[in-house]
Amino acid sequence: MVVRNLGNTVTRDVAIAGGGVIGLAAAWKLGLGGRSVVVCDPDPGRGAAWVAAGMLAPANEAFFGEELLAHLLLAGAARWPRFAAELEDSIGSPIGFEPSGTVVVACDPSDRAALDRLLEFRQSVGAESARLNASECRRRIPALSPAISGGAEVPGDHQVDNRLLVSGLLRACRDAGVEFIAERVVAVELDRGGSATGLRTEAGTTIAAGAVLCAMGWRTGGLGGVPPAVWPEVRPVKGHILRLRGPEPIIPRTIRGLVRGRACYLVPRRDRSLVVGATVEEMGDDVRVQAGAVHTLLDDARALVPGIDELELSECSVGLRPGTPDNGPYVGWTEVPRLAVAAGHYRNGILLAPITAEALGALLDDRPVPGELAPFGASPRSAADRHVGTGR
Ligand SMILES: Cc1cc2nc3c(=O)[nH]c(=O)nc-3n(C[C@H](O)[C@H](O)[C@H](O)COP(=O)(O)OP(=O)(O)OC[C@H]3O[C@@H](n4cnc5c(N)ncnc54)[C@H](O)[C@@H]3O)c2cc1C
Repeated sequence: MVVRNLGNTVTRDVAIAGGGVIGLAAAWKLGLGGRSVVVCDPDPGRGAAWVAAGMLAPANEAFFGEELLAHLLLAGAARWPRFAAELEDSIGSPIGFEPSGTVVVACDPSDRAALDRLLEFRQSVGAESARLNASECRRRIPALSPAISGGAEVPGDHQVDNRLLVSGLLRACRDAGVEFIAERVVAVELDRGGSATGLRTEAGTTIAAGAVLCAMGWRTGGLGGVPPAVWPEVRPVKGHILRLRGPEPIIPRTIRGLVRGRACYLVPRRDRSLVVGATVEEMGDDVRVQAGAVHTLLDDARALVPGIDELELSECSVGLRPGTPDNGPYVGWTEVPRLAVAAGHYRNGILLAPITAEALGALLDDRPVPGELAPFGASPRSAADRHVGTGR
């Protein structure tokens, strides 16, 4: 149901600004829990999550200096089988959740040395992997280049079809009674005591609510009505990503590779498309598809799987990840009473959507959030205290 602006004030339990994967997952779970929820977004489901690769990769996303984040990623991954089953049950169709693991490979000997160091760190934080020599890699993925120098089996890194996921969440939200207003939010409304009482849209709709959640991806923080210092620091991080297509699946499961020091991944989908990604660029909110980035991605992907030359290049796109100073998200109440934030999930918003939704349910019930999310509260000042990021 779409609530239109007829000059009336709409009152709900929770008003959510932003219907990306985070806002939708939260809205669905809160709606299922019996709360009245309204999501305000001019184009729900079409943010970074639409462009993304859909990898659920706690091991391959664990990096030196980010131990707390690595533990959060592992906790996020543990929620996925149940979340996927519940969502598929609710909408009656698959969302492409594939718990089939990932093969990670290194191109040359220096990539191999770098990968070995990473695997050692990842094992130290509990992310499982088993080293493979080059022929063991090729036995698993026959299309791999004969030039690769080795790799590892990473059994806990899976994938979901991100587009089926956000479409499924939209349907499940509607079935759970969540309402949508297709308008851009411009401000948080406060009462005289300074507590959040709702949202105001560009078109002048006021949504009164018992609690307000801002989940606008990299744009979180741009709203009026509250002092700018309330918002945590979130910036856009550009990512080019490609979609290829062929008559047959070229690889049976996800490959991640290091190619002359650069990271590259290939994610096969059930519909025979192949997702190839992704660049990580500090370019502000630039969403132009640039020839050089497409060239680099194709070049690196060909170094891993030469047979991609035969595939059709069906889509080149750009998404903006919500980056933060320490690469970890902000999830929790802000200094403004009844105003919560769930943003800054950077490269792992799909992986972390279920645990974030769970945490928001807990916050609204005045229960503690899952322990692994506790260091990632919404206060902008807490970032420096929790851990030092790599700036990756
Ligand atoms: C190339 C690429 C590859 C990625 N691969 C993966 C991956 O494999 N695995 C993974 O876990 N993550 C991946 N990510 C990251 C993931 O997509 C993000 O972390 C995730 O989408 C963040 O979710 P979000 O809901 O916060 O933001 P988004 O998905 O960007 O959604 C934000 C929503 O807010 C809305 N909005 C913005 N401003 C307003 C406003 N003023 N009023 C109302 N609504 C507003 C937008 O319309 C949008 O719908 C990838 C990202 C990119 C770009």
